[in-house]
Amino acid sequence: MAPPLTLKSGRVHVVEIPVTETHSHGSGDISRLKSVILEVTTEDGITGWGEASPWPVFTGTPEANASALADYFIPNVLGRSAYDVEVFMAEADRAVVHCSEAKAALETALLDIIGKAQGVPIHNLLGGCHRDRVGLSFSIANPDFDADFGKVERLIELGLGIFKLKTGFKDHAFDLMRLEKLRNRYGDRLDLRIDYNQGLKAHVALPRLRDFESFGLSFIEQPVARDNLEAMAHFTRTLTTPIMADESVFNPREALVGARLKVADIFSLKIMKSSGLRRALEVAAIAKAAGIGVYGGCMFETGIAHAAGAHLMAALPELDLGCEFYMSNYYLTEDILAEPFPVKNGFVEVPTAPGLGVDVDRAKLKKYTLTSQ
Ligand SMILES: [Mg+2]
Repeated sequence: MAPPLTLKSGRVHVVEIPVTETHSHGSGDISRLKSVILEVTTEDGITGWGEASPWPVFTGTPEANASALADYFIPNVLGRSAYDVEVFMAEADRAVVHCSEAKAALETALLDIIGKAQGVPIHNLLGGCHRDRVGLSFSIANPDFDADFGKVERLIELGLGIFKLKTGFKDHAFDLMRLEKLRNRYGDRLDLRIDYNQGLKAHVALPRLRDFESFGLSFIEQPVARDNLEAMAHFTRTLTTPIMADESVFNPREALVGARLKVADIFSLKIMKSSGLRRALEVAAIAKAAGIGVYGGCMFETGIAHAAGAHLMAALPELDLGCEFYMSNYYLTEDILAEPFPVKNGFVEVPTAPGLGVDVDRAKLKKYTLTSQ
């Protein structure tokens, strides 16, 4: 007899979706979203969706992740049961180094199938729902700040109150000017943070970071290169504003090293860094044990990966600083979901329908697909 939820087929779609404006970062610009959508179907006709959202300067390339899925991970799981998801994750780690985004896509698609078969949302498979909504942060990253300032105004009217300035892609005066304008206009009504995406050289960083101490920021994210853990630890010890590690902490091993060296006050959790939701929970467990906070990060994603991230956020025992799943509603010109990703009054609402709780619009998927295999 075939095992339950036998996996019958898998397809990998590389998609490219236009965005509303270029976003600049300390590590480079984004002017379109290129992502990898995974579709896995069981013998019974249940389809699970997953997404690998690579950024070449940060995690990896779409091409490598599409190949990891199509050439390695999918052939390995066909004919086997979706319930063996954790077995497949261990096998994926042994078969392919890196490609954490492809591993996240595989796990997401299998959890989507299991959730749909059981009639429960993915967060129920992870231990339950600690929160049904999460505060949403938008990233201010348009080199044309006047345009961004207008967008901030519109988003505040929609209920958003958390904004993260991408810093370090122009000069220091530009970063200070933008924060001053936001604080002058909105006072303490806004929860403001900054993110350098590794954009500062360590030897010039400290005086610049000190200039931000008076702005009451919730955190300063990843000021220097991922590997410069000593500098990250020094900033964490020296500055009053909390330091967040993003690029410096991908997975449980790096979380352990990061906790031991106290490289940050907060870790940014991303399923694309950790190789999925369960590994992200492991990172969160290490952070909690070390007295380090966690935050809901994401890459440049469609609503599929946002939904997976929202289930992770629901399942986290502690989460204080919100999440940044803004692309689907406020950055892509159009998403591939059948219904808009659920955001209301500045909060992401955790999906409650079985599995991921979101559906893909196949016509939109086809419209933005570059290649399928
Ligand atoms: Mg970041």
